[in-house]
Amino acid sequence: MPNPTSRHSKSRRDKRRANWKLSQPVTVLCPECQEPTLSHRVCQSCGTYKGKKIIEVVEKEL
Ligand SMILES: [Zn+2]
Repeated sequence: MPNPTSRHSKSRRDKRRANWKLSQPVTVLCPECQEPTLSHRVCQSCGTYKGKKIIEVVEKEL
Protein backbone atom coordinates (compact mmCIF):
# COMPACT_ATOMS: atom_id res chain seq x y z
CA MET A 1 0.00 0.00 0.00
CA PRO A 2 1.31 3.49 -0.82
CA ASN A 3 1.86 4.91 2.61
CA PRO A 4 4.59 7.21 3.88
CA THR A 5 7.29 5.13 5.50
CA SER A 6 8.46 7.84 7.86
CA ARG A 7 6.75 10.93 9.03
CA HIS A 8 8.08 14.37 8.21
CA SER A 9 9.95 16.27 10.86
CA LYS A 10 8.31 19.09 12.82
CA SER A 11 10.72 21.43 11.10
CA ARG A 12 9.59 20.29 7.67
CA ARG A 13 5.91 20.50 8.63
CA ASP A 14 6.33 23.96 10.11
CA LYS A 15 8.27 25.24 7.12
CA ARG A 16 5.37 24.14 4.92
CA ARG A 17 2.83 25.87 7.16
CA ALA A 18 4.91 29.04 7.37
CA ASN A 19 4.54 29.48 3.64
CA TRP A 20 1.10 31.00 3.39
CA LYS A 21 0.41 34.68 3.50
CA LEU A 22 -2.26 36.99 2.18
CA SER A 23 -1.08 38.90 -0.83
CA GLN A 24 -1.78 42.57 -1.33
CA PRO A 25 -4.83 42.98 -3.60
CA VAL A 26 -3.93 44.41 -6.99
CA THR A 27 -5.07 48.00 -7.19
CA VAL A 28 -5.01 50.40 -10.10
CA LEU A 29 -5.87 54.09 -10.24
CA CYS A 30 -9.37 54.67 -11.62
CA PRO A 31 -9.13 56.56 -14.94
CA GLU A 32 -12.29 58.50 -14.05
CA CYS A 33 -11.66 59.63 -10.49
CA GLN A 34 -7.97 58.66 -9.93
CA GLU A 35 -8.89 56.74 -6.81
CA PRO A 36 -7.15 53.42 -6.11
CA THR A 37 -9.54 50.62 -7.05
CA LEU A 38 -9.44 46.90 -7.69
CA SER A 39 -8.53 46.07 -11.27
CA HIS A 40 -11.26 44.53 -13.47
CA ARG A 41 -13.89 45.72 -11.00
CA VAL A 42 -16.37 48.57 -11.03
CA CYS A 43 -14.78 51.51 -9.24
CA GLN A 44 -16.23 51.77 -5.74
CA SER A 45 -15.88 55.54 -5.51
CA CYS A 46 -17.37 56.66 -8.84
CA GLY A 47 -19.19 53.52 -10.05
CA THR A 48 -17.69 53.36 -13.54
CA TYR A 49 -16.02 50.58 -15.47
CA LYS A 50 -14.30 51.04 -18.84
CA GLY A 51 -15.55 54.61 -19.02
CA LYS A 52 -19.21 53.68 -18.52
CA LYS A 53 -21.36 54.41 -15.51
CA ILE A 54 -22.37 51.03 -14.13
CA ILE A 55 -23.75 51.72 -10.66
CA GLU A 56 -24.91 54.73 -8.70
CA VAL A 57 -22.58 55.34 -5.80
CA VAL A 58 -24.53 56.02 -2.64
CA GLU A 59 -22.71 57.94 0.08
CA LYS A 60 -22.63 55.94 3.25
CA GLU A 61 -23.92 57.72 6.31
CA LEU A 62 -21.78 57.25 9.38
ZN1 LIG B 1 -13.54 55.88 -10.05
